[in-house]
Amino acid sequence: MSTRCKKCILPDTFPGVKLDRKGICNYCNTNAYACNWNSRTGNMSSGFSNPEEARNDFFALIERLRKREDSYNCILELSGGKDSVYMLHQLVEMRLRPLAVTIDNGFINQAALENSKYAAKKLGVDHIIVSPAVAEDIIEKSLKNLPRGVFTRFFICTNCICLTWSVLIKEAINRGIPAVFIALTPIERFMGYYEVPEELITGKGFMPDTPSNNSIFDRAEESYFFNPKNFPGAEFPRVIFPYHITGYPGSPEKVKKEVLKLELTPSGKVRTETTNCPLTKFMPYIDIFKDSYYTWEDRWSEKVRRKETSKLKALTAMATVRALIRLRLLWRKEKKYCMKKLNLSSEELKRLRG
Ligand SMILES: [Zn+2]
Repeated sequence: MSTRCKKCILPDTFPGVKLDRKGICNYCNTNAYACNWNSRTGNMSSGFSNPEEARNDFFALIERLRKREDSYNCILELSGGKDSVYMLHQLVEMRLRPLAVTIDNGFINQAALENSKYAAKKLGVDHIIVSPAVAEDIIEKSLKNLPRGVFTRFFICTNCICLTWSVLIKEAINRGIPAVFIALTPIERFMGYYEVPEELITGKGFMPDTPSNNSIFDRAEESYFFNPKNFPGAEFPRVIFPYHITGYPGSPEKVKKEVLKLELTPSGKVRTETTNCPLTKFMPYIDIFKDSYYTWEDRWSEKVRRKETSKLKALTAMATVRALIRLRLLWRKEKKYCMKKLNLSSEELKRLRG
């Protein structure tokens, strides 16, 4: 039986969560989700002692980028969702010359692809779509080799993000582009950080996570990930999350409205639901049976902390998802699609649920 944090309703069974004697979780206590400029989590540190320093650094960087003569002075990861589309608009407003890069991990859907093409064209930005040949294999192998006690999202999504960021950083190195921007939003957990620390980019790189040093990936697959050792003497770009600085423009609803007002999507509507990766709706089909919590509990908790929703509404919404998933009534299309794509049999799914 789990106990939930009195402030944000995160259950103590959720990975990384500990409640103190007053029943408040470590995330509420350390404010780990907010911009915590001094903090270190594993390898990640912001490198700035306060938000003001980071802000000054950001605008000085923009100024330096603007002065460059090259055709592109930054890369933006354009996923086709509202946040990256809106950020592309912001970069153009800042008079930068971004190259928009969309990464197709094999699970990207038509709506996201169309959105990204449309927005880039409308804003007059050059746009490339990169489809790493190994992406689907990486995701399949990560899922099928999920280590015991490891949360689905923190293994599958982590490896996919490592691959995505590897593609971006290699594009930047090969094209001599000094900055990579990623539109992470405040609700995403990495949001505490203004940028990927240099020590990570020049040190470990973005090699995939594997169970206890026993790699599940072959050499060819690993070669797609960014390892700084393979780029001796290269100038590494900075990888920055600008929403830390420019400010996420309000709630997701507000961003949607802005994107609509600017007419940056083809159909005149933002199909947020359909631009999300279908794996986000498939992973609950493992987590809810395996550990009984919903995959995205921490996102709901962050909404509660930000007072974007009430505890009751969040608890009701998550209970509804859990019940519907157990009855196999929710996101069936995504489940079927992902299982087929991942060559996952019903027996294997059962095994993953432990
Ligand atoms: Zn809490």
